[in-house]
Amino acid sequence: MKLGFDIDDTLINLREHAFHIYNHKLQQNVGLDVFQALPSMEIHSAFGLSKEEGGKLWHSLRDEIYYSDCATFPHAREVLNELVEQGHEVYYITARPKDHTERTRQWLIDHGFPVAEGHFFCGMSDSEKVHIIEALELDYYFDDKPAVLETLAHLPVRSYVKDRSYNQHLALPRITSWEELNDMLKG
Ligand SMILES: [Mg+2]
Repeated sequence: MKLGFDIDDTLINLREHAFHIYNHKLQQNVGLDVFQALPSMEIHSAFGLSKEEGGKLWHSLRDEIYYSDCATFPHAREVLNELVEQGHEVYYITARPKDHTERTRQWLIDHGFPVAEGHFFCGMSDSEKVHIIEALELDYYFDDKPAVLETLAHLPVRSYVKDRSYNQHLALPRITSWEELNDMLKG
């Protein structure tokens, strides 16, 4: 089978990682409970920043956010390696900016994710992901972002939402822990 994965906040805990970096840079100590209750994807509101200030800060810290040691979600790496060992194809489809393509691909490899030649796609907009997912004829696709998942309804791909605070309204099958994936594929 062909399985596609978003990266940020689907396989790795990027927003929480950025939240810690924001706390440090802004010399604040906003609690993780605030993060865990955020109703939107953007984290700037937890620090009293406007959308514009938040955007500027994210941009200025982007390299540090992306390439320092962001935690992977438990079991993500192990389960994806098992899938490849079982003969499945694993694809990555991330809307990180295009100039982050090679460093992001290398980061995944350095952190133990299986990345086969031609299975890594980066630099498209959220609304363009659907075209890649369709062209690859994926059987399964996993993402955290409502704006992406909402574009996939007309495709035969089985879409799953990675459970996060800001996507609770989506009526899609839900992955809470990556441990569930193996059982789900057998079921
Ligand atoms: Mg994401």
